[in-house]
Amino acid sequence: MNCNAVHNNLIFYLDNELNQEEKQELEKHLETCEECNNLYNQIAATYTFENIPEVSADFTDNVMQKIVPSRKVDFNKQQFIKFSRRIAAAILFMLISVSAVYIFTQQQQERYAQQQDAEEEIRNYYFADLDSYDLNTYYTSNTEEEE
Ligand SMILES: [Zn+2]
Repeated sequence: MNCNAVHNNLIFYLDNELNQEEKQELEKHLETCEECNNLYNQIAATYTFENIPEVSADFTDNVMQKIVPSRKVDFNKQQFIKFSRRIAAAILFMLISVSAVYIFTQQQQERYAQQQDAEEEIRNYYFADLDSYDLNTYYTSNTEEEE
């Protein structure tokens, strides 16, 4: 087998389509011819067809089975993101509502406290002497005066 024949048969050799005799001739040539050996190595490095596994009859079904669930996962992801956004919006709304109620009650309490203070001030202003009054002496003194 000369160089030209080897070049022409390298692909068939890689595909394992040569008969035993041709195969041995080619291998013998590759051992002795550096140029053909280099070419063989280059082709073998890039010629990956023989690395592809044999496609079985149910290959398409298997691939589709693997693709469909991942699509479902993507769809669920989108749904989950939508759902999460709604939850986040609901939580945000609740937080705003709660803080609004909290602020309102705080204001109410402050107002109530202010009212209490004001009432106490008024009470102190008008009835301060009432505490020091002894009602018994008041009544007795009054009745004594009437006599
Ligand atoms: Zn050669």
